[in-house]
Amino acid sequence: MEEIRTRFPPSPTGYLHIGGARTAIFNWLFAQKTGGKLILRIEDTDEERSSEESIQGIIESLKWLGITWDEGPYFQSRFINEHLAAARKLLESGHAYKCFCTKEELDRKREEARKKKADFQYDGTCRNLTPKEVAEKEAAGVPYTIRLKVPRGEGFVGFEDIVYGIIEKKYEDIEDFVIVRSNGRPLYILSNTVDDIRDRITHVIRGQDGLANTPKQILIYKALGALVPKFAHMSLTLDPKKAKISKRTHGELVAVSFYREHGFLPWAFVNYLALLGWSTPDSREIFSKEELIKAFSLQGIGRANAVFDFRKNDPKFFTDPKAISVNTHYIRNLPVEEIEPYVRAELEKAGIWDPDFQGAKRDWFLRTVDLIRTRYHVTTDFATLGRAYFSDDYPIDPKALKKNILKHEGFKEWFPVLADRLQAIKAFTVEEAEKVIRETAEEFGIKAGILINGIRTTVTGQAVGPGLFDVLIAVGQSRVVERLRKSVIFFE
Ligand code: GLU
Repeated sequence: MEEIRTRFPPSPTGYLHIGGARTAIFNWLFAQKTGGKLILRIEDTDEERSSEESIQGIIESLKWLGITWDEGPYFQSRFINEHLAAARKLLESGHAYKCFCTKEELDRKREEARKKKADFQYDGTCRNLTPKEVAEKEAAGVPYTIRLKVPRGEGFVGFEDIVYGIIEKKYEDIEDFVIVRSNGRPLYILSNTVDDIRDRITHVIRGQDGLANTPKQILIYKALGALVPKFAHMSLTLDPKKAKISKRTHGELVAVSFYREHGFLPWAFVNYLALLGWSTPDSREIFSKEELIKAFSLQGIGRANAVFDFRKNDPKFFTDPKAISVNTHYIRNLPVEEIEPYVRAELEKAGIWDPDFQGAKRDWFLRTVDLIRTRYHVTTDFATLGRAYFSDDYPIDPKALKKNILKHEGFKEWFPVLADRLQAIKAFTVEEAEKVIRETAEEFGIKAGILINGIRTTVTGQAVGPGLFDVLIAVGQSRVVERLRKSVIFFE
C-alpha cells in the first residue's frame, strides 16, 4: 500500500494561530492514525512578509503542542529553481505560454469588463502567438509572464473533496492564470504544487480558503504528468462574531503562545482544537492522545464553520468557555505527577519555586497541588490563587478581607486566641484542627463559619478554596499560627 504523506505548510508571516494549529493537528492526527508521515514545510517565498522570528515561533508552538513531524522543516524559498524548471517544462510541453501583455493593457481590459459588469478573464491574446512572434518579442526584450494553458471548450476540472464532496469547475470559468511573474518569480500556486509533488504528498488537508486554488492546482498536476493527491478542505475557524479569525484583527488572542502563557496544558489545547469542526457520532469531548488518534477520521470533519468563542469582553473567561472546560478537566483529573512540571514552571515564573518542592518536600508539594487543583482552571491559577501555599508573601483579596474579617471587629481578639490554641495542638491533624476551631467558636458564642471564613481569608488570601481543615494541614501548623498572629494588623 502506498504510504500516506500529509503536510503542514505555514507561511511564516506571524505567530501560529488557532486556525493554523488546527490544520497542523488534523494533518498530524491523520498521519498518526494511518502510519503515514507529516512533512513540515515553511512557505517563505514572500520575502517581505516572512521572518526568522516567525519561523522560530511557529516551530516552538508546534513543539509545545506536541505535534511531531517526520520530515522537514523544508524551506520553499530553497526550491525556487525547481519551481521555475517546472514552468519551463510546461512551456516545452505546450501546457504553458509566454504572455507579453503589459499591465496597462490588462488594466484597460479589466476596466472595460467592469464597465460592462462582466467578470474579467484574461482573453488569451498571447495564447496563440506563433513561435516567430514570440521570438521577436523576446529578442526585443519585451517582459513576459508565463501562463498555464487551461483546456478550452466544454469540460471541467472535477475532484472529490473528502469533506465537501464532488466539486466541478468548468474550464470556461478558469482563465489562463499566471504561474511565473514578469520579474521571473514563480507564483505561489505553482510553488505550492511543485513542492507537494516533490514531497510526494498524498493528502492535502487544509483550510477551506484553499478550495479556490484547487482546480487550478489540479490542472498543474495534470499538465506536469503528476499524480493528483486527495484533498480534504476543512471548515474555517470563526470568531464570536462569525468573522474569519485573523492575526490582524484579533492580535494575540488567537495566538497559540497566548494560551501557553495563560495556563493551558498542551494536550488539553490540542484536544480542544480537535473539537473545532470535528466530532465523533457520540459527541465525545475528552480524548487522550491514543484515543484521539484512534477516533480521528477525515470523514468526521464537518462542513459548518467552527466558532472559536474567545469572548474578548467576558470578564469571567478570557477565552472560549469550552476551551476552559476542557483544560479544567485535565488540570483536575490527570495524574498529579503529569501536571507537576507545569505547576513548577508557573511557580518559577512567579519567583516562588523552591527546589525542595522537588526534593525533601515533594510529597507535600504533590499533595498540595492535588488538594488545590479541584477549583482551578488554568495552570497560572497555582501561582495566583494558590500563591499562599507556596510562599509567605501573598496578597489578600480585598473583597474577602472586608467581608470575612473587617466586618467582625472580634477578630482582633479571636486571631491571637486561635493562634495560641492551634499552636498548642500536639499532632496537627484535620480532626484536631477542626475540633479546636469549633470549640473556640462555641466559646465565643459565634457561628463556626465566621471563624472558618476569616481564617481561610487570612491563611490563603482567598474567600474560597478547599475545605478549611485540609487547607490548614497543607499550609502547616507553624505557618498557619504565624499568619493568624500577623493578621491583627488588619485592624490597625
Ligand atoms: N502556506 C499556506 C498558508 O499558510 C498553505 C496553503 C496550503 O495548505 O496549500 O495558508
